[in-house]
Amino acid sequence: MRPYVNEADCIACGLCKDVCPADPKVFEIEDKAKVVNPDACTGCMECQNNCPVSCIEVK
Ligand code: SF4
Ligand code: SF4
Repeated sequence: MRPYVNEADCIACGLCKDVCPADPKVFEIEDKAKVVNPDACTGCMECQNNCPVSCIEVK
């Protein structure tokens, strides 16, 4: 499991990084959310469930 970000819709709010419990963080927020540590993802779905524009899919 890992998240995929539809960057066209991302508003860079940072919520995905804030709610992600993984260490190291899976996301970095630049002009868009970037997946920088996909192997750290536990598949908890918090990022997908909290993204305000529904642009994350965990699969
Ligand atoms: S929560 Fe969604 S909109 Fe916000 S930075 Fe993450 S991917 Fe982008
Ligand atoms: S599914 Fe959970 S662990 Fe994986 S990136 Fe999203 S919030 Fe982080």
